[in-house]
Amino acid sequence: MERKRRQIAILGSTGSIGTQALEVVSLFPDLFQVEVLTAQSNADLLIQQAKKFRPNAVVIGRDDLYTYVKEALWDEDIKVFGGVDALNEVVEMPGVDMVLSAIVGVAGLAPVYRAIEAQKQIALANKETLVVAGELMTRTAYEQGVNIYPVDSEHSAIFQSLAGEFQNPISRLIITASGGPFRGKKREELLHVTKEQALRHPNWSMGSKITIDSATLMNKGLEVIEAKWLFSVPLEKIEVVVHPQSIVHSLVEFEDGSVKAQLGLPDMKLPIQYALTYPMRCRNNFPRLHFSDYPNLTFEQPDYETFPCLRLAYEASRAGGCMPCVLNAANEVAVAAFLQDKIGFYDIPKIIEKALQTANFSAPSSVEEYLQIDQEIRNTIKTNI
Ligand code: NAD
Ligand code: MG
Repeated sequence: MERKRRQIAILGSTGSIGTQALEVVSLFPDLFQVEVLTAQSNADLLIQQAKKFRPNAVVIGRDDLYTYVKEALWDEDIKVFGGVDALNEVVEMPGVDMVLSAIVGVAGLAPVYRAIEAQKQIALANKETLVVAGELMTRTAYEQGVNIYPVDSEHSAIFQSLAGEFQNPISRLIITASGGPFRGKKREELLHVTKEQALRHPNWSMGSKITIDSATLMNKGLEVIEAKWLFSVPLEKIEVVVHPQSIVHSLVEFEDGSVKAQLGLPDMKLPIQYALTYPMRCRNNFPRLHFSDYPNLTFEQPDYETFPCLRLAYEASRAGGCMPCVLNAANEVAVAAFLQDKIGFYDIPKIIEKALQTANFSAPSSVEEYLQIDQEIRNTIKTNI
């Protein structure tokens, strides 16, 4: 019997994860059909992807680019939409089975929530969504019978290590971190680093926001919070270990002391594929891990003094309520300002810490409330930069 192809919406298809997801999809034409593609501003790449993958619909977030995309695709049988509302609504299209959110930042919150409410399965790269509103997202997913499959490599490793273990309590999650481009450096050496230095990640090639997050270790902090919600594990049981080779993607310790891990080369296509094909493992042509190339796999403690963002993420998550949302909003604005050379490297944790200390919002309970806090934090910080 012929299997029905899984119909996928890829949100943020023009980014680092989005383009790699399309590479994965094109390897398995019998398994997947691209139903929707969305992008914020890279209209040319979106048009090119639309012509190649022939989705039912595409959305360009920036209104001013709508006519350009519409005209480029006028003789194709593809619906074209523009604007923020369309970005959020398109996930509800009846043809969509699964939504891969590869949007960066809090912009993913509304479309992922809409997708969960519409009972679409979720493949999630967009960690900020769980950082900001993990309780709301995971509770709604549970109520709607929706699974959230992790795309983030560490969470995919944990998910893979948990296969067959769902009844067994987890005693510890150990999330590995590469340490980023500034591993081993001290604060004094990093006071004047430039964005070019921070963007030079040793192991991974990624979008600019997550690359800066990797340099500050905020990325690991966001991942700790992401893991807490994905796997219902309390913060005290989630540890970070620096593993510069990025081969062991994360580990789970069970109650008997046994530790399981998933290993592989640092290549996001593998976790993307697993999220899309779960529970199947499908043959691919990706480069394989050879231990002779990695004779030393090493592990060390993170340096919380030099990288205060990791501590701030734990603190915000421990405080709960609006704090993870404040943490994320402050981080997004600060990283954007650093990328525009408006602030220095250590202004990033300084801005976040101040935002956490002064924030005074009651605990949000809806996407709208989260987005309102997000906006207020952004406005306050922007006026002070
Ligand atoms: P990117 O900057 O390369 O791509 C972001 C995508 O989101 C683009 O397609 C862009 O059009 C879209 N986008 C940006 N702003 C938007 C908005 N306001 N509304 C709608 N769409 C918008 O980012 P990336 O590196 O692919 O990361 C995407 C997400 O995946 C992030 O949450 C990141 O933390 C996570 N992630 C990325 C990697 C990686 O290797 N790149 C690894 C793990 C997790
Ligand atoms: Mg990761």
